[in-house]
Amino acid sequence: MNKKELLRVLTKKRFSNKIIKAFKEVNRKKFVRGELVKYSYEDIALPLQTGATISQPSTIAFMLELLELKGNENILEIGSGSGYVLALLSKITKGEIYGIEIIKKLAEQSKENLKKCKNVKVIHKDGSRGLKEKAPFDRILISASINRLPMNLCSQLKNHGILVVPVGESIYQIKNENKEITKKEFPGFVFVPLKKSKK
Ligand code: SAH
Repeated sequence: MNKKELLRVLTKKRFSNKIIKAFKEVNRKKFVRGELVKYSYEDIALPLQTGATISQPSTIAFMLELLELKGNENILEIGSGSGYVLALLSKITKGEIYGIEIIKKLAEQSKENLKKCKNVKVIHKDGSRGLKEKAPFDRILISASINRLPMNLCSQLKNHGILVVPVGESIYQIKNENKEITKKEFPGFVFVPLKKSKK
């Protein structure tokens, strides 16, 4: 597929206009490894470095939809990998966006690729405990899967904030409404597992 065809697939899946517009504006090619560039606009996940993948576009679109972005949120992405999702987020929201990536090489490459996205900052570290120094966030997106719901990260979420996270093979949307935590489950997704903190 080329970019146009991928955009058609996303449109058919009824993702909202602002999300499709972000996919239109960001070149996935820039975030894909050399020999895989020809698959850039296939609706599939692609390998990055040891154990990391750039997620499938329609899965990314689904997660972005669940974030219910209005356009000025500050956001944390844990497992920012190639930086592709950060680039998409920066097209949708004007707020500050932080990405945490545990693989040094990916963090460095993504910083380079995201130079033009002025509201995005990539940090190379273990993100399993979030980013306390910049919390609370309007939105938190975890791009690698964990075994159980991350209640510790809910404390880094603002009131009316939303956290989207793959747990096992489901994506969860977690909302913090006046300290009441509600969750919705969407089964049927596979993600790279989040590495556990060694501390
Ligand atoms: N959203 C990314 C890809 C996600 S793949 C993109 O657009 O390319 C999941 C990423 O999570 C991988 O890059 C992996 O290295 C990273 N990761 C795994 N465990 C982590 C941890 N504890 N802290 C930060 N990043 C982690």
